Amino acid sequence: MNTLNQTLNVVEHFFSIQGEGSFCGTPSYFIRMGICPLRCFFCDSKFTWKKRNEEWSLESLYNAVLKNKCKHVVITGGEPFYRENYDQLVKMASFFARDFIVTIETTGIYDPEQIYMNTLFDNLNKFEKDILDYSLEDDIDEMDNIYFSISPKLNIEAYSECNNKVDISTVYEFYNLRKFSKKMKKFNYKYYYKFVYSSEMMDSIESFLNKYVPDRLLHDNIFIMPETFLVDSDRTNRKNKEEAAEFCKRMGVRYSPRIHVDIWGLQRGK
Ligand code: SF4
Repeated sequence: MNTLNQTLNVVEHFFSIQGEGSFCGTPSYFIRMGICPLRCFFCDSKFTWKKRNEEWSLESLYNAVLKNKCKHVVITGGEPFYRENYDQLVKMASFFARDFIVTIETTGIYDPEQIYMNTLFDNLNKFEKDILDYSLEDDIDEMDNIYFSISPKLNIEAYSECNNKVDISTVYEFYNLRKFSKKMKKFNYKYYYKFVYSSEMMDSIESFLNKYVPDRLLHDNIFIMPETFLVDSDRTNRKNKEEAAEFCKRMGVRYSPRIHVDIWGLQRGK
């Protein structure tokens, strides 16, 4: 079947403002893929957990993006890297990166079981090779336009598909930035890490940063983003934001707001 006409595993797509990370504040078109193999307690997109094949082809998505004044496409999830999404991700990213800046929001996990055997580095290397193999035009290097927003999940309960065999050091090793830092430099910091902060997660994030982030690596590509509680009061959210800001000052990393949540709350498609 022609790639342009294939039905994609897309849950929703919409035009909004990127509220988080490096492109915070940038008008962006969001394409949200279905399915995630993890189960984070703070997940604000649980509706993605099951597969949804909506009637969207690459061509119709492309036309939808073109109707808006934006040069930035965000492929998010769910988990775009998950094995059931992976081939579609390669095609989508390659296709859009010819004309747009593309950010892929991911945990980098292809298969939860693989967390024992592999590293994030290997998965991203494979992705680059696959993008090159798939490249539609010889004179364009799609990787030049692709950014990765990597969100390590350091809460062990999220890995329930691994039959509770995963321990936290295995997860830390998967996200080991010491192994990854040369690669990050090569790509001019087009990879950044984003941690969802809550007081429950503080110790895990801190010990990860202390153990696995090399001192020489600038911390300006590490973002701390306060968890926003869905049904709680403004006062709790404010407290969480203040704690996240204090954490950033103490650890020398960057604070990321969630502009879309501040403006629209947790409405879908905003
Ligand atoms: S990895 Fe993301 S989509 Fe998956 S459960 Fe965690 S927060 Fe939700």
